[in-house]
Amino acid sequence: MHVETLIIGAGPAGLTTAYELTKAGRSVAMVERDTFYVGGISRTVNYKGYRFDIGGHRFFSKSAEVEAWWTEIMGDEMLQRPRSSRIYYNSKLFDYPLRAGDALSKLGPVEALRCVLSYGWAQLRPYKNVVSFEQWVVNNFGRRLFQIFFKTYTEKVWGMDCNDISADWAAQRIKGLNLYQAIIQSFGLGKPKAHDDVIKTLINSFRYPRLGPGQMWERTRDKIVAQGGKVMMGSTVTTISQHHGTGQWVAIVTDAHGKETKVTADHVVSTAAINELVKMLGADNDAAVAAASKGLRYRDFLIIGLITRGKESFDDNWIYIHDPSVKVGRIQNFKSWSPDMVPDPDTACYGMEYFCNAGDDTWDMADADLIARAKFEIGKLGLANPDDIVDASVVRQPKAYPVYDDTYKINVDTITEGLAEQFKNMHLAGRNGMHKYNNQDHAMMTGILTAKNIIAGTEAHDVWTVNEDAEYHEGGQAGADKIEERLVPRRIA
Ligand SMILES: Cc1cc2nc3c(=O)[nH]c(=O)nc-3n(C[C@H](O)[C@H](O)[C@H](O)COP(=O)(O)OP(=O)(O)OC[C@H]3O[C@@H](n4cnc5c(N)ncnc54)[C@H](O)[C@@H]3O)c2cc1C
Repeated sequence: MHVETLIIGAGPAGLTTAYELTKAGRSVAMVERDTFYVGGISRTVNYKGYRFDIGGHRFFSKSAEVEAWWTEIMGDEMLQRPRSSRIYYNSKLFDYPLRAGDALSKLGPVEALRCVLSYGWAQLRPYKNVVSFEQWVVNNFGRRLFQIFFKTYTEKVWGMDCNDISADWAAQRIKGLNLYQAIIQSFGLGKPKAHDDVIKTLINSFRYPRLGPGQMWERTRDKIVAQGGKVMMGSTVTTISQHHGTGQWVAIVTDAHGKETKVTADHVVSTAAINELVKMLGADNDAAVAAASKGLRYRDFLIIGLITRGKESFDDNWIYIHDPSVKVGRIQNFKSWSPDMVPDPDTACYGMEYFCNAGDDTWDMADADLIARAKFEIGKLGLANPDDIVDASVVRQPKAYPVYDDTYKINVDTITEGLAEQFKNMHLAGRNGMHKYNNQDHAMMTGILTAKNIIAGTEAHDVWTVNEDAEYHEGGQAGADKIEERLVPRRIA
């Protein structure tokens, strides 16, 4: 088979590239490892009609082009949904974003007094040389509030001790939040800053496909096929090499039954993890590239869908679990994302999210044991009665987060520079494809620009300059044509 462009991976980045290319009449073949689902991390898993979103995907972009793209694909099926999320701590649900009045009243007078005293102590005896996330938060909020609202969840998600996370992240992420002012304002004194008003209005809603994010990507796949593109499911590229004379790519695509197909292409777009691409290229013969490839790390994730009889116990889209006695990090309530995610209105469906590393105890646990743990934990938290749980299913998501550590940038540069000659018509796109911590809109933007380059036969658009979407849903304006730097914690050097 010969195509102009071979695309590895049918996630948002690959599908966007294929859609744009086929719309312009270009020939495309896509290779997707999953036998059934397109959408990658943004797929929606259908379990007996119950739809699980792998992480809860809000559709919100500061890029007008991306917002218009979503409307083009989904039309009326794109809902505008209210956003609500709270923090669970000590059997209580606290407003998120945190409001001082709500937090202090729910903590109760004794704990509230302890928090205020601990805050006062931190003002008197602050850390002088602040290098860690922990030190920064303790200086600004006091140790007790750090322990209640920052430590547990941060450590669950990132798998790092707060003492090992650089203070920069806290300084950028929690900027503008001043406890003293917040307390004053909670008593109706003082004026909220204009910036706070903007945040309040913009985080209150987001767009969402009626049947979950996968509906967007399944529709996109159907349109690609209707526009003449080929989608090869349950397949991976086992080897890929470039013909010295013609410069054409020759890929061996192997399907789930071991059947091999030779595909030649003028361009390859890879959204597979960079270290997997290195293997496909056989570039791990080069010691420096092999070492860099090995050095790229990921954080993994699994979600356990629990189906319960009766009405859900909370209306929020999701709840952050700050309780250190359970391992679950976040709980999704899929019906609040869209009522049609749950086929039987007399049931509810929760997504118990566990952040882990492939190969650790959680990841390796048998599904039955994971379900037993999830049932026990949701019961312990008092958010559902384990006896009401009628069914459950586990979904694993390897490489959910590309890890930003001290060496990741050097590693990515070593690989891209080592393969620079080939990368002239080998295009890297997407999240793991570029080892960039980005959301769907950013992954899509790299696909849109790559398609523009291929169609025009130039390298006019540099996908590496598309920055990640900053504070994301916590601020900024939808469709404002501005995608900014995304904030990710880094380990202290
Ligand atoms: C917990 C969590 C919450 C998130 N929340 C949001 C949110 O609220 N809003 C938002 O916009 N984004 C969110 N994201 C980010 C979003 O999921 C990603 O940005 C997006 O899916 C990246 O798209 P991609 O195409 O680059 O990669 P992926 O989604 O990873 O897709 C890559 C595809 O390539 C396939 N593939 C990989 N290697 C190979 C290979 N060797 N051969 C064949 N196929 C291969 C995979 O199977 C997959 O289908 C969230 C992510 C996580 C983990």
